[in-house]
Amino acid sequence: MEFTNHNHLLKFLFLIIYALVKYIENTIKLLGDTEIAAELRAIYDFYNCIQPDFDSFMERFSLSCPPGCGECCAHFIPDVTPSEALIIGAQVLFGDKKDILKDQLYSSKPVSSIVCPFYDPWNPSHCMIYSVRPLVCRMFYSCASEGKNGEMEFRGCRFNDESQRVAGQELEDSSSVLQSMSDYGESLEALPGNSASTELLPAAVKRAVQRIGYDLNLLFPDSQVFMSSDQEAL
Ligand code: SF4
Ligand code: SF4
Repeated sequence: MEFTNHNHLLKFLFLIIYALVKYIENTIKLLGDTEIAAELRAIYDFYNCIQPDFDSFMERFSLSCPPGCGECCAHFIPDVTPSEALIIGAQVLFGDKKDILKDQLYSSKPVSSIVCPFYDPWNPSHCMIYSVRPLVCRMFYSCASEGKNGEMEFRGCRFNDESQRVAGQELEDSSSVLQSMSDYGESLEALPGNSASTELLPAAVKRAVQRIGYDLNLLFPDSQVFMSSDQEAL
C-alpha cells in the first residue's frame, strides 16, 4: 500500500491501533498524559471495582429481573456527572456499534423525550451502552439505600414483585458489608476531574464527545481522525 501523504499514514496507523485493542483502554492510551486520560482511567477502574458489589448484592438476596423487562429504562433519562458522560462518550466515538450510538445520540427525532437515547426496546437486553452505563443504572434494584434514620433499606422495583423478598432484618444483618447508594455516589463524585454537578445524559455525553475530540485533534493535528461532524453536531 502506498501512502500519498503523511496524513493518510497517520490515519492508517491510528485505525490499526484501534483494531488491536479494546476501545476504552486504547482511548486512554491515545490520550497519553492528558487530564482527560486520567479521568477516563479513573471512571473505568471505578466501575470495574464496584460492579462486583452489585452482582453479589443481587445474588445474596436472590434478586433477578424478569427476562426482557426494561421498564426502568423505558421512562427514564439519567442525570450523569462529567466522568460518567466521558466514558459513554468514548464508547459513542470508538466502541462497538458506534455509528448506531451516534445516530441515537444526535437524532433529531428521538423515540420519546422521556426515554434514554440508548434504550433499545427491540433488544431483550435493552441497554446499548451496558458496559459503561451510569452509576444510577447499575445501582437500581442492585443496591441498598439509606433510610431516614440511617438504616439500610431496599426500595425494590414496582415492576418486580420478587423485590419484596429483601426484608429489613436481612439488610440489617448484612449492613456491615454493604455500602449504600449515597456511599457509591460520594465515591463517584470524588473521582479525578469529576464533580457532583449533573446534567441529563444526552447533553452531557455530547459535551464529552466534543471534549475527547478536541483533545485528540490537539494530539493528532494532521490525522483528522476525529470527524468534524461530531463537533458540529452540538
Ligand atoms: S429493575 Fe425492575 S423495571 Fe428494571 S428490568 Fe428489573 S424488574 Fe424490570
Ligand atoms: S443508560 Fe442504559 S441502563 Fe441506563 S437508562 Fe439508558 S438504556 Fe437504561
